[in-house]
Amino acid sequence: MEARDIKETRFLLGTIVEFTVYTDDESRALKAIAEAAQVMRDVEQAFTIFGVHDNSVKQFNRAKVGQVVVLQDEVDALLRLSLMIHQQTQGAFDPALGTLNQLWGFSGEIMPTQPPSQQHIQQALAKSGSRHVDSQGRGWVKQVQGLQLDFGAIAKGYAIDQGVKVLKKHGFHQAIINAGGDMMVLGTHGDKPWRIAIRHPRADQPLGWVEIDQDSSIVTSGDYERFYMYKGRRYHHILDPQTGKPSSASQSVTVIAANATLADAWSTALFVLGSKQGIDIVQKRKAMAALWVKADGSFRQTQGIELHHAPVTMRTN
Ligand code: AMP
Ligand code: MG
Repeated sequence: MEARDIKETRFLLGTIVEFTVYTDDESRALKAIAEAAQVMRDVEQAFTIFGVHDNSVKQFNRAKVGQVVVLQDEVDALLRLSLMIHQQTQGAFDPALGTLNQLWGFSGEIMPTQPPSQQHIQQALAKSGSRHVDSQGRGWVKQVQGLQLDFGAIAKGYAIDQGVKVLKKHGFHQAIINAGGDMMVLGTHGDKPWRIAIRHPRADQPLGWVEIDQDSSIVTSGDYERFYMYKGRRYHHILDPQTGKPSSASQSVTVIAANATLADAWSTALFVLGSKQGIDIVQKRKAMAALWVKADGSFRQTQGIELHHAPVTMRTN
């Protein structure tokens, strides 16, 4: 049989995850996709701070000051990586903003309708930030009461990478795992590059598309994903750890990197850093490229993203 796209979707990680495997063996592809989805579900369970399932992140978040919590191995490893990215991004990426994120409430079932008070923001800020997290022996301790970890900006990427490992283990090297627009692309689409559309933060048509012909991840962080408008201003889910408020540095940032863990974390961080500060940091890194839609709607990008443009019609919000 001719090779073609075998597609499956699952609801995972709070979003629709689409698996595409280019193959002539449908039944083996479906088996591999089912296994990949299960592995991704396990990652979700290990990192989620929502729902009833208990995990080591929730144990840490419940712990008192000074109480040592040993994190599950992969959580421990991702926290270490997150703290490194925190350093590399001048603090723009911070895995210990749980209390602040909760105050803003963008991850809840019901979207808030107005921002919290400045006083509440200051209180939550005092209970947030990686500087209050220390490793001790094999575990971790918090230095301020109420501090909470939140891997919301990196766990989806990590889950995608774990799913991709499963597809590769089953011998599939031409595939895509797309988790709500954050994706890892494997190989080529037959003998052609994969074509990946990038969302426009203010229009329904894509900003353009890129062609990818080798294993790489492409992830976008945007202020249009979870937001509300209040008194003519947009409030969204990507917070600036310095101010404790939604970052107004960008409308969206798209990152291409070697894996989805890095692309996910860096797209969030570079959103907060903005293009002015972010561009030099990215240029110095090998195998990473970024494209900003700046707060004023103009574009800025590093080398390594060739955007093919499509005509767009602007929305008003
Ligand atoms: P993303 O959609 O990947 O950009 O991640 C946004 C999510 O990560 C939010 O919903 C929060 O849970 C969390 N978050 C918000 N701001 C930050 C930040 N500056 N650093 C790390 N995580 C953040
Ligand atoms: Mg992210």
